[in-house]
Amino acid sequence: MNIIELNGIFVNNFILYNHKEIILIDTGFLNGISFIKNALLNIHKKLEDIDYILLTHGHLDHVVHLKKLKEISGATIICSKEEQIHIDGKYSYKGINLVCDGLEKFGRFYFNYKAIKIDHHVKDGDILNILGGIKVIHLPGHSIGHLGYLFLESKYLFIGDLVNTRRKKHRFPPAIFNSFPHLIPESIHKVYHMNLNGIISNHGPRLSPEEQWNRFRIFAKDYLKQKIT
Ligand SMILES: [Zn+2]
Repeated sequence: MNIIELNGIFVNNFILYNHKEIILIDTGFLNGISFIKNALLNIHKKLEDIDYILLTHGHLDHVVHLKKLKEISGATIICSKEEQIHIDGKYSYKGINLVCDGLEKFGRFYFNYKAIKIDHHVKDGDILNILGGIKVIHLPGHSIGHLGYLFLESKYLFIGDLVNTRRKKHRFPPAIFNSFPHLIPESIHKVYHMNLNGIISNHGPRLSPEEQWNRFRIFAKDYLKQKIT
């Protein structure tokens, strides 16, 4: 399996492929479609060849190009059913998260965003027979249906927005974007105790999955100690 990381302005997304399947994890943001198109051209493929779109969650910076990509490729859209309300732009944000609401409203207007339905709902523990097997890992906190995707052959876990990669250490996304912060410790605990070779997050500079995993373990160990004591 090959991974192409598309480092966007605010958010990264990913193309994964082998000799028979191409999948996209999240859809990118500004210039997202042209980034994807150019990356596919480099491997002599085109947008029409995308087979699956796996979504970590429904925030606008992860789904803004979903409808267009579906129309071009006919790819199967996969996510938890709880994220449909985000994709529809109908989630009722509360308190501090109203800032996120305002940003998404502006973004939907700016991009002339149109919603689309998830084709295939998945939940924690489901196995997708794609690219050698992908296990769905529910990691709620950032949003209620937020998902990670574990690639069983490489033991790489795509962790969405559970934590952000930074130059020196990991950190959480800004509080305005975390709708269920009380669920984050359990999700961190879950990932910390997984047997992985690497993790890959959607925000931050390009770092190897192994390096991200090393940093995550240091971050998570400290964080979980504080939560318990
Ligand atoms: Zn997000």
